[in-house]
Amino acid sequence: MEQSPLKNKISRQVASHGFTFLHSDGGFAKAPSSARIFGGKGAALLKIAASGLKTPPGFIIPAELFTYYYQHNKTLPEDFYANIESAVAELEAAGRALFSNPDRPFLVSVRSAAAVSMPGMTDSLLNVGLNDRTYRQASRYFPDEQALTRLYAEHVSNLAYRAFGVRAEEEAETPADIALLKQKVTRECGVSFPESLTGQVIAAVCAVLNSHENPRAAFYRKIQNISFEDSAVAVIVQAMVYGNGPGVSGSGVALSRNPVTGEARLKGEYIPNRQGEAVVGGRQTPRDMQVLAREHPALAKKLKTGLAKLERIQHDVTEAEFTFEDGALWFLQARTGKSGASALLRITADLFTEQAIDEKTAILRINPQVCDTFLHAAPDPKARFEVLDKGVAASPGTVSGKIVFTAEDASVWQARGESVILVRNETSSDDIHGVFAAAGVLTARGGATSHAAVAARGLGRPCVTGAGGIRILTGERRLLIGELSLKEGDEITINGTTGDIIAGKIPIIRPDPPPAFYALTLLAEKRRRMQLRANADTAEEAALALRFGARGVGLCRTEQILFDEKGVNAVRHMILAETERERVAAFDAVRERQIETSAKMFGALLGLPMTVRLLDPPLHEFFPDSEKEIKLLAEKMGKPFPAMKSRLRALKEYNPMLGHRGCRIAVSHPEIYRAQVEMICAAAILSAERSGVRSKVELMIPFVCFAKEFETLRAEIEAVAEAARLKSHDAFSYKIGAMIELPRAALRADVIARHADFISFGTNDLTQTVLGVSRDDSARFLTDYQRRDILSFDPFVRLDLEGVGFMIEIAAKRARSVKPEIEIGVCGEHAADPESVLFFEQIGADYLSCSPYRVPSANFSAARARIMAEEEKHKHKNRGVTL
Ligand code: PEP
Ligand code: MG
Repeated sequence: MEQSPLKNKISRQVASHGFTFLHSDGGFAKAPSSARIFGGKGAALLKIAASGLKTPPGFIIPAELFTYYYQHNKTLPEDFYANIESAVAELEAAGRALFSNPDRPFLVSVRSAAAVSMPGMTDSLLNVGLNDRTYRQASRYFPDEQALTRLYAEHVSNLAYRAFGVRAEEEAETPADIALLKQKVTRECGVSFPESLTGQVIAAVCAVLNSHENPRAAFYRKIQNISFEDSAVAVIVQAMVYGNGPGVSGSGVALSRNPVTGEARLKGEYIPNRQGEAVVGGRQTPRDMQVLAREHPALAKKLKTGLAKLERIQHDVTEAEFTFEDGALWFLQARTGKSGASALLRITADLFTEQAIDEKTAILRINPQVCDTFLHAAPDPKARFEVLDKGVAASPGTVSGKIVFTAEDASVWQARGESVILVRNETSSDDIHGVFAAAGVLTARGGATSHAAVAARGLGRPCVTGAGGIRILTGERRLLIGELSLKEGDEITINGTTGDIIAGKIPIIRPDPPPAFYALTLLAEKRRRMQLRANADTAEEAALALRFGARGVGLCRTEQILFDEKGVNAVRHMILAETERERVAAFDAVRERQIETSAKMFGALLGLPMTVRLLDPPLHEFFPDSEKEIKLLAEKMGKPFPAMKSRLRALKEYNPMLGHRGCRIAVSHPEIYRAQVEMICAAAILSAERSGVRSKVELMIPFVCFAKEFETLRAEIEAVAEAARLKSHDAFSYKIGAMIELPRAALRADVIARHADFISFGTNDLTQTVLGVSRDDSARFLTDYQRRDILSFDPFVRLDLEGVGFMIEIAAKRARSVKPEIEIGVCGEHAADPESVLFFEQIGADYLSCSPYRVPSANFSAARARIMAEEEKHKHKNRGVTL
């Protein structure tokens, strides 16, 4: 073996690294197929081999080597060289036995495989082993010699750059040019370019390991939240099969089901006489599977049977990479196919119906957030628009945006709040941040499985690929579509469900969910323990929430009803009133409307509970800021301007969020809550009279801090509610509860619970007060916390489990210690965040309350949380641990 520049990196430490061999006869496939050891791809190849389908011979270097490499300052264990030498020899022998044509060169691919899929983020090297000897052999085997020479040159520069960091990209069109390239490599790194297969494999293995540190891999790990350890890669060394070979040869990607519609029919594409990179790279627009079925029916049939087999093994829609060489079909990868949101719902429901998966698996497969996007945006059917061109429908959804031509521009424009469509000839792994930043992606080349398509589908962005009728003049930043010439910043619309490219911005709607959504929603409903309610302020919102599966309203913010112009005026009069009588009179102006609005909500709920929160915001929010506006208002209200100004000055607070708000207002002015409760009870009675169904009222006191404060206010509003109930002959039932949104209230929840019928966690304010971070304007510095890895998420989106969660856990335990049956709700934004919901399940919350549109995803989150909690319990039980 020739000297390798890596040799001096050998560590003195010796470890044993057994490689696992892949043989298409399934001989070695009995090894455990764990993705942690072999990477997702390695595990899949072992499964393919075990199923009897053909995959080229090869061996897998387990992820243990990666761990060793990075734990030992990027050095390899000493026995690695001997191991690799014998493994390569064994592989060559297997190759000789399998491929009998003496002209056929034996080359290998060296690919990375992480446990978590990171498509294209780390390096993979093809045609390893190409040297002067194998090149001569290959030139007899491959039909296109010019392409072969290019391939050889590409291989030399690629290996030189990836493994030794030497840039050797020069025009190389003849073997003589390639010899010059090799000399350059030798000159610049001081060792000769490896000629032997083993030497090249070692260099390629190091290149793969090192590529883990490249910037695009680091960016991908960051946006996908993958830790360095989780992304440890195994390295797969496998014999090359040649899609660019003689006879019937080609490469492609196929899915066992349609990833856009979810239909249970093979979907795929291929390129004849090309290696697999051509399909994935998107530089060439592939042919549809139907063409393969027409031209090579026996091959197409084999492919279909193979995919069906793989789907049965994987219990999921399967995407396979395949190559056919001189008529023989080889499977090179099998993974779970990524599909659009509504296709995923359909596929999951179908697999459940076909009994390929059980109920738990079906629920766990649905990422709750899918519900937020399943109603893919589509052009309004009433809208008229001009379709400029049509490409491949690569990732569903319709979006309008300004065109940009580079991934960098996509990021910059998006950061300043623009919705952009990234327009490229094709995308590569280096563009991932641009796909992430863009609202949609349009490429001139590629198909449904090209990089742009897969990346966009994974990130939920609409995408159209293979738009043959567009031309991109990158230098001039222009896009030509037929006669039309568009410049950077011009708006277009793309429809990734149909492949349409549409002129300008158009009206977009969200269609109804697919039937599978309802079937799966029912499964999740059956599974979850926590109830769902909605945060709703109108009868329409309440009705919508019920349609989505909510069973009640968990938060009706009464100020929302008071905030329209008439309502605001009444509240202003009330705030400016000098006496209690004036204050009560001020409410009379809105009484009728408030009663009607609330009665309609009770009517929509038909006996389901409605939690009505009494007045919460600081009073100054009802007044304008500027002197000019205050003057105008004073005139309108018939109040003297100086008196109004001084009253408002007196109301002004430096910390209004910690000021005279919530139930503190009612401590100062009890008549406000009394008047509100009187109106709410009147509404409950009116609804009961209209519908004949008893209303269920839950009066919630916000921003409680002291038990005594709650006890005092409860007594006052209870007197009003009880009198109304008795007078109405029990037309409604009522409960009175406390909103827990201050740390003190959480710590003293046991004492509060003695007087409360229920408690509900207002996690928005609780996050604000536990963290001491404003919920209104902290984004500008919280992003720095995320950037510097102090926080890995926005605590106003995902519950800070260690702080706020800890506080909630204490509160729930304490409240239950005095009143085991007390009802516990959650009504902050976190109630619909899937990660936070896992926690609410663990603390035994009774219900989650979120905005109506988030109810469908909360349903799946709650079911998923239940299943995971049960599995956890089961695990502990099996270990003999009592919880
Ligand atoms: C909360 O604080 O979590 C809450 C639900 O109330 P609001 O957002 O109205 O303050
Ligand atoms: Mg609040």
